[in-house]
Order: sequence, then C-alpha cells, then structure tokens
Amino acid sequence: MMPTSGTPATHADRPPGAGDGDAHVDAGIAAPQARADEKRTATHCPYCSLQCGMALVQVPGEPLSVAARDFPTNRGAMCRKGWSAASLLSRRDRLTTPLLRDRRGEDLRPASWDEALDRVADELRSCQSHYGRDAAGVFGGGGLTNEKAYMLGKFARVALRTSSIDYNGRFCMSSAATAAQRAFGLDRGMPFPVQDIAATDAILLVGSNLAETMPPAVAYLDDQRLNGGRLVVIDPRATLTARRATLHLQNMPGTDLALANGLLHIAIKDGLVDEEFVRQRTSGFSFVEQRSARTGRTASSGSRGSRSRTCAAPRICWATRRRRWC
Ligand code: SF4
Repeated sequence: MMPTSGTPATHADRPPGAGDGDAHVDAGIAAPQARADEKRTATHCPYCSLQCGMALVQVPGEPLSVAARDFPTNRGAMCRKGWSAASLLSRRDRLTTPLLRDRRGEDLRPASWDEALDRVADELRSCQSHYGRDAAGVFGGGGLTNEKAYMLGKFARVALRTSSIDYNGRFCMSSAATAAQRAFGLDRGMPFPVQDIAATDAILLVGSNLAETMPPAVAYLDDQRLNGGRLVVIDPRATLTARRATLHLQNMPGTDLALANGLLHIAIKDGLVDEEFVRQRTSGFSFVEQRSARTGRTASSGSRGSRSRTCAAPRICWATRRRRWC
C-alpha cells in the first residue's frame, strides 16, 4: 500500500454531517475542561491494541476519571470502553490486595504482595523442576504497550528461560495469522502507520465492523472518503461500518469464499494480477487459477459492476473479524 502524494484531509476537516454515526457519538465525547487543582497522568487505554492515548485525571476529593489525549492513533477520541475505564477503580468490590488459598478447598484469604509473589515464584520453580523449563509459559495480549510486551519477552527468556510465550491473538486471530503466514511469510497486524488509511484510494474491508469494535479508528475511514477514496465493505450485515461504505457488498452468510473466488477470477481474467509478485512470492498459483475459474465465475458476474469503481491504487485489503492488513 502506498500513500498518495499531497496532504490528505483529516477528521478535523470534516464538514458538518459527514461520517456522522453512533461511532462518532462515542468517539467524540468532549473532554472535560482541565481544572487548576487537577493532576493528569499520561497513559494508554488498557483494553485493545489501538492503544488510545488517555490521561488519568486526579481531582482532590473526587474519583479518578479519564480524559482523551491527542495521540497519533486516536487523535483525542476514545470508545465507550476507554471512557469508562476509570469507573472500575472506585468500585467497592474491586480487589485491592492479593488473595491466597492455603489448601485446596479452603477459602481465599488476603495476603501481602511479598507473600503472594513468593508463592508464585515457588510454584513456578516447582513446576519447572518437575517438568522442565518449557512447562511454565507466559501469555501476553494486544492491549500491552510495546514496553510491556518487551518486558514480558525478557521475563520469559531471561527469568523463566522458557520458550513458551504467546499472546491472545493466537486464538482470536489464528485464521488470519495462518493466512498471512502462508500468503506473505509473516504475521503482522498492521505493517504501516494508521494515518496511511486516509491517503488510500480504495479500501476493501472484509468482515470487519470497526465502527463498533474500534470507533476511534473509523475517523481515518471517514477522512479517506473525504479525500475522494472509495470504501468497499463486504459483510452480510448492514453494520455501522457498511453504512459508511461507497459500496456495500451484502453477501449471504457462508458465501464469502465464493465471493473471494469471484473477485480473484475477475482479477485473473482482466489481467489485474501482479504477475511478478505471483512468480516471486507464491506457489501453486495455476491451481488457484483453475479453482477460482470453476467456483468464482458465478459470484464474479454479480461483482463485476463494482470492479471499475474499486480498482484503483494505492489500495488496502482489510480482512477478518477486527483487523488484518495486506
Ligand atoms: S478503541 Fe476503545 S478499547 Fe481500544 S484502545 Fe481505544 S478506547 Fe481503548
């Protein structure tokens, strides 16, 4: 994907009414005015990999609250999860101390951090001495900052000396990760700056509803349309994201493979395939050609009308439940 030249319009340039939708009601909650006696600590939303910049706001005598920060990914916006993140901190039933169980079946009791950490260390040592170093593993997540992910890697390799380290994406993104590995030889969630979206001529969004799963990111899609780009959404549902699309391909559930074969069939038949890329980076393409010709011909007859409107460069194909760029 290559950005176009020139300065793209930004979300801030949006004309009244453009791109309005529930997601922007979410993302556009106005930050409260800063008070003279407040203290702000810059941090990130802990919930998802967009890592929206936020500040924890401390006002004497009041519960902690959050304010959005002007950060490159979220540009001052957050979704409901981010805006409500601080409400957990003042709940009366929130755990504020470790709880330990001395024997199986006994009730949990409050413990100090030293006691709890000693227990964890003892159990890890015991597990590894019985079953080997790889018997203990660590599990990260997309919500970790780069620094935390780095520290977790160091902890696994240097402290535990285990090769067992993974993250939550292995479950929720496993099909996309496998496809990316097989197609491109590596699995990278987002191999370019999110700002490039606004400078893209054509985006094909497959089965992703980020207006509801990642509202702050949707502002970039609106900017892309303001810049004259086209957004094609493939989704059986008329989602908030599909409603923003230049073209919504509302396929029947279970027909996504036929549709993909149809698009591939058109690309091959109309000479749109990057032959050099195919020759250097793929194998078995003639089999794919035959298969797509057989299964994609019918689907392609319904998709052809969209081809002339979507075939432009630079372009992005964004697939899977939440996000995958290729
Ligand atoms: S999109 Fe929502 S959940 Fe994800 S980091 Fe931003 S505020 Fe948090």
